[in-house]
Amino acid sequence: MPQRTDKTPSVTEAPAPTSAATFASLDPRTGAVLAEYPVHDAEQVAAAVARAREAAVWWADLGFDGRRKWLQKWKTAIAADVRSLAAVIAAETGKPSDDALLEVMLAVEHLDWASKNAAKVLGRRKVPSGLVSANQESTLQYQPLGVVGVIGPWNYPLYTPMGSISYALAAGNAIVFKPSELTPGVATWIADKWNALVPNQPVLQVVTGLGATGAALVEAGVDKVAFTGSSPTAKKVMAACAKTLTPLVAECGGKDAMLVAADADLDAAAEFAAFGGMGNAGQTCAGVERIFVADQVYDAFVDKLTEHASRLRPGGAPDASYGPMTLERQNDVVRGHVEDALDKGARAVLGGRESLHAPYIDPVILGDVPEDSTAMTEETFGPIVAVNRMRDLEDGVEKANRSSYGLGASIFTKNKAQAVAAAEKLNTGMVSINSVLGFAGVPSLPFGGVGESGFGRIHGADGLREFSRPKAVTRQKFAAPLNLLTMQRRARDMKISAWMLRTRHGRG
Ligand code: NAD
Repeated sequence: MPQRTDKTPSVTEAPAPTSAATFASLDPRTGAVLAEYPVHDAEQVAAAVARAREAAVWWADLGFDGRRKWLQKWKTAIAADVRSLAAVIAAETGKPSDDALLEVMLAVEHLDWASKNAAKVLGRRKVPSGLVSANQESTLQYQPLGVVGVIGPWNYPLYTPMGSISYALAAGNAIVFKPSELTPGVATWIADKWNALVPNQPVLQVVTGLGATGAALVEAGVDKVAFTGSSPTAKKVMAACAKTLTPLVAECGGKDAMLVAADADLDAAAEFAAFGGMGNAGQTCAGVERIFVADQVYDAFVDKLTEHASRLRPGGAPDASYGPMTLERQNDVVRGHVEDALDKGARAVLGGRESLHAPYIDPVILGDVPEDSTAMTEETFGPIVAVNRMRDLEDGVEKANRSSYGLGASIFTKNKAQAVAAAEKLNTGMVSINSVLGFAGVPSLPFGGVGESGFGRIHGADGLREFSRPKAVTRQKFAAPLNLLTMQRRARDMKISAWMLRTRHGRG
């Protein structure tokens, strides 16, 4: 039976592998093998889902209070051992240890919010019945779906899948989690922590493997799939879900724009742009990839951004500004985008072709980038920003909206009214004003995109409802004065109904 090496935590509730297939998780900074993990096949994935279905009954029966207690214990266990989890994140992604620690902090905040707010958002409540149905008492509650299959990416291997896992668990579902093949250790770490608390109820199981294991999970009869990853894979997952009408929440890629108005605080905007564009080596779904700057301040902004970006030092040390490209083939994507932009006439403001030396990429700032270059149209996922000009915020919104993606965006201006108006017109799921990624740390706000960035929401009340089904119940309290739900309607009742309809709704 394939086993992980002793460098990672012990085996989780995942099914015992029967085949000899394994894969290695690597440290992208050194290429060193961290551990071997089993490739779970369709049969093993189906067995995990079957076990989850039983555990889901126990979990749902605990109710909101019971689940909250377990989720709070799990939260405490994760937070108390944060250094160990951050070390696994850093080893598997190559990101600096501070970034890994912040990732744990954000994930824990979301887990805390989801567990504390599920009862309020999803619990049974009365809703008004309306005049016509005044004899009914109407109640609404949100019930768990059953088993949710979570498929995760590697760039934020904890924060991102936990956006589905925490909310789906708080809503009363059991989880089978298929992490990215680049970051199986993070997934097993959190599942091990869960199973140390609740060893006899496989409410959270991890199945490991490549894309085929994810595909098997989608086809294993789960009640919903929560997918986070690239848009092309989301389309395959959606096609597979269509076969069984399995619902899907799809959190996909982005091409987020930052708009910098003429009155913006340019120092702050430039500092945020360097963080949003180059933090995590640009491997952030809602990172800054396109920047549109008002003509009057374009040069001043570019100078300030160049100053910030020039100070960044990518590398493998724990205190590096950012780490390597976690996914090796991403180096080629980034190279392709930089070369395409330069070939089409973009200016290399900072760095250029010489910045691309895998696995580390130095910061690249491209100026006046042609709209049809891939650096403007496709997700780059590297420490590269394209800085173009706009007349004003209205023009910037129009340019930002030319993307087929619509995940997040940011606006820098001192004019609150104009910022709010521009935010409304941006064709994205989220907007930060005078910061970047501000929305990602607010657990009560929903997270998700439009267009190629996907659909459905994690986080917030919408994220809890995403993993629930509404149950609408009416209870007749007394016989209706107008008895319309009968095969023997009286002429008098119909006359009054017609009069009510005209009086209430027919007077323009
Ligand atoms: P990916 O699409 O290559 O893989 C995502 C997951 O899907 C992996 O676990 C993979 O094994 C699995 N998979 C592959 N083929 C599958 C199939 N046919 N059926 C089911 N599962 C399959 O994405 P990635 O490279 O791991 O992640 C990077 C992408 O994720 C970027 O595009 C990034 O923008 C996006 N992302 C989005 C968000 C968000 O919240 N919107 C957050 C983080 C990352």
